[in-house]
Amino acid sequence: MKMLKITQEEADSMFVSLSQKYRIIAPVEKIGEGRFSNTSLLTYDEVKSFGEIEFFKKTYFSPKEILNPIRQSLFEFKRKDIREICELIPPSIVFLRACDINAIHVTDAHFLNNEKFKDIYYKRRRDRVKLFLMECKEPFESCFCVSMGANKTEDYSGFVRKVDDGYEIKVTDSELENAFSEGTPKDVEPAFVEKDKNPITIPGDIEPSLFENDIWKEYSKRCNACGRCNTSCPTCTCFTIQDIFSENSNNAGERRRIWSSCQVKNFAILAGNHDFRIPKGDRMRYKVLHKIRDFRKITGFNMCVGCGRCDDVCPEYISMFKCIEKINKITAKKKNDG
Ligand code: SF4
Ligand code: SF4
Repeated sequence: MKMLKITQEEADSMFVSLSQKYRIIAPVEKIGEGRFSNTSLLTYDEVKSFGEIEFFKKTYFSPKEILNPIRQSLFEFKRKDIREICELIPPSIVFLRACDINAIHVTDAHFLNNEKFKDIYYKRRRDRVKLFLMECKEPFESCFCVSMGANKTEDYSGFVRKVDDGYEIKVTDSELENAFSEGTPKDVEPAFVEKDKNPITIPGDIEPSLFENDIWKEYSKRCNACGRCNTSCPTCTCFTIQDIFSENSNNAGERRRIWSSCQVKNFAILAGNHDFRIPKGDRMRYKVLHKIRDFRKITGFNMCVGCGRCDDVCPEYISMFKCIEKINKITAKKKNDG
């Protein structure tokens, strides 16, 4: 393990040394590229220096695309022959916060620890990614990571803190120590947010009778089924499969998986055209209960990490946080009523 304080100049030369072997992906602010005029886009992208990294603002998009690309080719087929597409990403370092590292544990549970099947496409990417922790000095407005138990982590290869005159760095991965050969030794430990701005209790026992509650009807009226809450969520992993045929042949093509969203029309459609979640409120119920109840029943931990991104991006101001509050009230009332 190495703990260091480095100057901006030393950081620049370390970045060069790191980037010889690793692609470095981190939060960035793209000025003027936001959804509305004169706004910025806070997103993930490859960076070419520590100076490009946005350490202090929360990104609208999560880092999940690095492990789960929006569109991924799985294999090519020609008549009955199948040729797997082995798409390897370069070894990568990703800068992310504790909630997003915990979100990766959720996606690991989906793709790597799901009974005996491991998703090889996810695993190939996951094996080539190292995680660098960034800390949150204060909780952001819509975050509730402490309430979700996702505010802390020890699972990182490195930790970087930006300070006025350089960076403080802790490297725990021996493979990376050589790249951090300059600087002054200094004890460096990440600090974690200990209290949410708006704490919330996650109901431990949500009865199936909640499925029929009228609260879901409100979402049928308000939600426009855009799916933005899913695409910004670091733990949403649903995808659909498409076979794309070659323009020149009906017998050849490739199979792809493409992000999907449980909030959009036809997500739950089955053979025979049977759709068992037509009202948008039913889709909201599915999403919320999967995040705070159903996944936990299988894995022992919640799927939602309380990053608040779904609340930040919803154009209809629908809030996961407020929905959990409503569920809390209903659950508490039911207990009191006996
Ligand atoms: S459901 Fe919302 S708050 Fe929870 S992890 Fe997903 S985006 Fe973050
Ligand atoms: S972002 Fe809001 S409006 Fe869009 S699908 Fe999600 S809850 Fe509905």
